[in-house]
Amino acid sequence: MAKKKRILIPEPRSRFIRVKCTVCGNEQVVFDHATFPSRCLVCGTQIVQPTGGKVKLINAEVVKTLD
Ligand SMILES: [Zn+2]
Repeated sequence: MAKKKRILIPEPRSRFIRVKCTVCGNEQVVFDHATFPSRCLVCGTQIVQPTGGKVKLINAEVVKTLD
């Protein structure tokens, strides 16, 4: 076994991300491994598409990653 850094554990690291709706500019926090689509709380636009892993952002951009 090589003694390099840490071993990469194939464990899904889920976290919350703060995203900004590109339609109305509202910022909200979403789960980055959500298994359901999320909508903007203000304008109702779908902003998060579940992919089975990390979510895909649609109509939204990441403002900050919360750890
Ligand atoms: Zn919105």
